[in-house]
Amino acid sequence: MGKATGFMEFERQTANERDPVERIHDWKEYSAPFSDEVAKTQGARCMDCGTPFCHIGMDIDGATSGCPIYNLIPEWNDLVYKGKWREALERLMKTNNFPEFTGRVCPAPCEGSCTVAINDPAVTIKNIEQKIIDKGFEEGWIEPRVPERRTGKKVAIVGSGPAGLAAADQLNQVGHQVTVYERADRAGGLLTYGIPNMKLDKDVVERRVQLLREEGIEFVLNTEVGKDISAEEIKAKHDSVILCTGAQKHRDLPIEGREGKGVRFAMDYLTKSTKKVLDDSVEVEEELDAKGKDVIVIGGGDTGADCIATALRQGANSIAQFGKHPQLPIKRSDENQWPAYPQVFSLEYAHKEAKENFGEDIRQYSIQTKKFVTDENGKLKELHTVEMKKTRDENGMFVFEEIPGTEKVWPAQLVLIAIGFEGTEQPVLEAFNVKTERNRVDAEYGDFRTNVEHVFAAGDSRRGQSLIVWAINEGREVAYHVDQYLMGETALPSVANM
Ligand SMILES: Cc1cc2nc3c(=O)[nH]c(=O)nc-3n(C[C@H](O)[C@H](O)[C@H](O)COP(=O)(O)OP(=O)(O)OC[C@H]3O[C@@H](n4cnc5c(N)ncnc54)[C@H](O)[C@@H]3O)c2cc1C
Ligand code: SF4
Repeated sequence: MGKATGFMEFERQTANERDPVERIHDWKEYSAPFSDEVAKTQGARCMDCGTPFCHIGMDIDGATSGCPIYNLIPEWNDLVYKGKWREALERLMKTNNFPEFTGRVCPAPCEGSCTVAINDPAVTIKNIEQKIIDKGFEEGWIEPRVPERRTGKKVAIVGSGPAGLAAADQLNQVGHQVTVYERADRAGGLLTYGIPNMKLDKDVVERRVQLLREEGIEFVLNTEVGKDISAEEIKAKHDSVILCTGAQKHRDLPIEGREGKGVRFAMDYLTKSTKKVLDDSVEVEEELDAKGKDVIVIGGGDTGADCIATALRQGANSIAQFGKHPQLPIKRSDENQWPAYPQVFSLEYAHKEAKENFGEDIRQYSIQTKKFVTDENGKLKELHTVEMKKTRDENGMFVFEEIPGTEKVWPAQLVLIAIGFEGTEQPVLEAFNVKTERNRVDAEYGDFRTNVEHVFAAGDSRRGQSLIVWAINEGREVAYHVDQYLMGETALPSVANM
């Protein structure tokens, strides 16, 4: 695979990024795809290691290592190196319905487990994936594949995120009539309203949705199942139903001053900001506009990073991001060895932008928010914090202790709460009467059936907030089981058979 000596000859290179100072003046994607030549050289670094850990997704210490959809990485790296782009595309499409999404925003757990990464920088897998699919679209190789035969079976999918779209694609291709119900005005789930445009251009999402439409999938938008249409009606009209409703129940921070104007959930902010980017005539409350404000993002994860990049583009006066945990080490620790996902310090796109524009890394570690303070009109004016020490208790569990004397007051007119999600929103689950466990639909992986006849569940609604690549995995796997349930057999692929 690749060039036998490629990993010794060529340095790792990642996709070029646009200048962080320039790019915050628009909402276009921040990363520029590889040229053909760079992709070939990078593909050549794949070393024919014999046991490629990169293409088998598994869980190590609670984090994903390797590719959850079993992308045939060494095979397409070799084909790219040899300039066989069309064959590389065919190989890629065997396992991944939407490489244009993962190639842009997957955190690439494949690269952490790449064999080259034992003692050298990993093969640049994700950027090659994007290059293959982007070239496929540019060359006109991606065309609607309308199934020749229909089975007469009808499947309803509730939710149009990556899990719903992947399930819809698979089931449509084997001839079932698929209808996707979505409460938002655009399809895509968090691909559309969650991940901002500069990370994943919404035209890229819409291009795929349009292709799925042309292939025969029906999308019913602006329709909340359980409210605008009853669960009973959906069940009566279809032979099977798949719940792919995501896990967007916010985790709140119920401390003093939480009700103040200017203290909002990150998802409200990201969703409305993207709506405005897509249609300038959309009205967004002044409270959610970061222009000229001191913005504080509470939560150290990706959602928080997306808030930073959005606030920068809106013209925030200052931005700080608070995380509860200490800064990660520069190199892997002894407890975090290859092939586990590398838990190391990194500068995400948003952090690079903030650093270049404000002159310093805006992240604050080991910090806890104690209260929000508002002015006489109920508008947020400041936020009070204390620093925390992370230690282990007598049972070896991590605990956080406040450090006396480290209290601080931060001026702020907009605070965005991005401390995660508590699971699936309840109304749709109550409408279908499905059992839940810790706010997730109770349906076992590798079976996906709920307690209700004909009703299955997949994606974040079943797994909890996760990754796009896992949502695609679950969409493909639930399709395999639904097809088998409807037809008594299936020709669809499953990672269990690979
Ligand atoms: C801000 C943010 C950034 C992220 N960035 C990344 C990233 O860079 N890389 C990555 O891999 N992952 C990222 N993730 C995680 C990733 O987006 C999710 O894991 C993934 O989208 C889950 O897919 P899903 O299809 O299960 O659910 P979702 O994408 O959440 O889609 C669920 C859909 O169901 C719809 N729905 C819910 N209830 C109903 C109903 N009753 N009727 C009709 N429709 C309904 C919702 O409107 C939504 O469109 C991010 C998450 C967030 C919040
Ligand atoms: S989908 Fe993600 S994990 Fe899989 S090959 Fe692509 S970047 Fe790697």
